[in-house]
Amino acid sequence: MSEASSPAASKPLSGPQRGMRQLGLVRDIDLALHLPLRYEDETQITPIAQLHAGESAQVEGVVRSSRVEFRPRRQLVVSIEDGSDSLVLRFLNFYASHQKTLAQGCRVRVRGEVRAGFFGREMVHPSFKAVDASASLPTTLTPVYPTTAQLPQAYLRKAIASSLKRADLREVLPTEVLPQGLPSLKDALQQLHLPTAHVNLSHLEDRSHPAWQRLKFEELLAQQLAQTQARLERRALKSPRLCARSASTDAHADPSDLPTRLLKALPFALTGAQERVVMEIDADLSREHPMNRLLQGDVGSGKTVVAALAATRTIDSGWQCALMAPTEILAEQHFGKLVQWLEPLGVRVAWLSGSRKGKARLSTLQKIAELDVDLVVGTHAVIQEDVRFARLGLAIVDEQHRFGVAQRLALRHKLDDAALGLEPHLLMMSATPIPRTLAMTYFADLDVSTLDELPPGRTPVVTKVFSEGKRDEVMARIRDEVARGRQVYWVCPLIEESEAVDLQNATQTHATLSAALPQVGVGLLHGRMPAAEKAAVMSLFTQGQLAVLVATTVIEVGVDVPNASLMVIEHAERFGLAQLHQLRGRVGRGAVASVCVLLYTPPLSESGKARLRAMADTHDGFEIARRDLEIRGPGEFLGARQSGDQLLRFAHLQEDLALLEQARRVAPRLLAQHPQAAQAHMDRWLGGKAEFLKA
Ligand code: ADP
Ligand code: MG
Repeated sequence: MSEASSPAASKPLSGPQRGMRQLGLVRDIDLALHLPLRYEDETQITPIAQLHAGESAQVEGVVRSSRVEFRPRRQLVVSIEDGSDSLVLRFLNFYASHQKTLAQGCRVRVRGEVRAGFFGREMVHPSFKAVDASASLPTTLTPVYPTTAQLPQAYLRKAIASSLKRADLREVLPTEVLPQGLPSLKDALQQLHLPTAHVNLSHLEDRSHPAWQRLKFEELLAQQLAQTQARLERRALKSPRLCARSASTDAHADPSDLPTRLLKALPFALTGAQERVVMEIDADLSREHPMNRLLQGDVGSGKTVVAALAATRTIDSGWQCALMAPTEILAEQHFGKLVQWLEPLGVRVAWLSGSRKGKARLSTLQKIAELDVDLVVGTHAVIQEDVRFARLGLAIVDEQHRFGVAQRLALRHKLDDAALGLEPHLLMMSATPIPRTLAMTYFADLDVSTLDELPPGRTPVVTKVFSEGKRDEVMARIRDEVARGRQVYWVCPLIEESEAVDLQNATQTHATLSAALPQVGVGLLHGRMPAAEKAAVMSLFTQGQLAVLVATTVIEVGVDVPNASLMVIEHAERFGLAQLHQLRGRVGRGAVASVCVLLYTPPLSESGKARLRAMADTHDGFEIARRDLEIRGPGEFLGARQSGDQLLRFAHLQEDLALLEQARRVAPRLLAQHPQAAQAHMDRWLGGKAEFLKA
């Protein structure tokens, strides 16, 4: 059970030991933190005469008779008596050992639910044990633990009880950081595992009991300490200072600096929100510590140009910039736009993706290594081992939440490993805003800039929810839009289990639409197509040569075709809220009034209804994120950051906001003034998970 006696060459594990391992119960502290699901009250004996049908109770008595009956089927029928009255115990399955313990004259303690039987009160399959007349009653409630088939409750109970004694539960936290009036960790665990008979059970159940509060605070504090520490570690790193030329050495403003020239060349002026976040980013870039900033802004809020400005600032200071997007289509769009904006200014832009191989790739790699390229745009191919930047100053990650943990770690690695011992700055972008509670916890090591304003001249998308039966109406709408020279997306559902079915569906829809609209081009785009083919279809659609694009969710992120004014999402009920919002963001990008049709197939589940309602109600990405959190919990936001095991076991982000705020307040002080206590606390709570939290 302790780490010292762990597996390898020793004996094979027994069933219960395997069960414990399965539940992650390895160290004493793991067992001590494995809390009961509920409790049974064995502290009292009820006289049989006072039993009521429908109640659970414990009684004690002497067996008066015990016999096997055969009607209506074979069963053991036992009658016990306690001086007040008698009670029938009935067992439909029984063994010789039952009969032995329940033989006439034996004293037994029995627990079960009382029923009104034909011959008076009875219990069916009660739990029972032999006792002698002087056996004392337990003084605490009996815990019932979550367990597995291999691991009997009694075995687990014993293991936990002895781990509780053995575990090192010394108080490591100084009192001043603790919320007032809470028990010590040791007492809290004692109370949670073995509460006294008069504990307020409802407070244990709704987790408002002080013992629960203590445990939740401990957990939240460990999480805050890890985040605060990550931030401090980052602040200790050095980065290149990417200053505005005019503001650094030269007292005279320099109108020829790259960002200024880009701004002049753009066909639009920045929104106020864009101006503000550009300043926030510039301020970070001019510091000698790495930026770790998230730029969040609703779909269509204009994040790309902000990224381009940060890139030009970097390049202007003589450093390189990498921009990475989660899909090839999106990366390609960025590449196209950035080439269009930046090449006229003399910026050398290169493309890297999984599909660029062989000589072309090698020559690009060489240019990157020799500082013959200023900006590299691509998929995660940008952070492969063999990509060596001569002077990487800034990495930009678009739609960062779409990247998995492995890719995030690879990026970290690339950043840590950069040239000249200087850590590049990091800018992440996302259209899925992080709710406040998550920003305070999992993303506490992140500075956040928010684009809370859309560029002018957009007409909000009208969202309609139609049932499958109204397909004809939808077809008529598509004809209308196309007749007016507008473009249409038709999004086919993602069927997770079967890519093949998915594909068939998309292909069929494509055939149907092609037949219905013989005069115009209808394109098909799906995940299985080779990258070059995808790019070709996308570019035909972008240029307006295809009027309708049937696509699986490959178009989900970032695609920008302002002339598209209608989106139909088939089986909308199968999509997540964040995903629907992303998809809808593909229309309403120009000045034309746009419509998004959510087609669903009844019947709708409750959460399906809630999602479609939310979509029809609001366009606000923040409001949608809030509702999503409500409907689905934080899992979706954490995405691949989570390893599958819950990071918070005891605390609940929304319900325990006060504890969270206190933990957040005291964590920096604890790290500064009691570093050893802080470390001991993190070790106890996070074990090996601390690194993971930083990914
Ligand atoms: P997102 O935040 O979803 O990535 P984009 O950067 O793709 O948004 O911008 C959406 C569209 O708005 C693009 O066509 C972009 O060129 C345009 N755009 C960005 N900023 C402005 C602005 N200030 N005024 C007008 N159009 C803008
Ligand atoms: Mg974008």
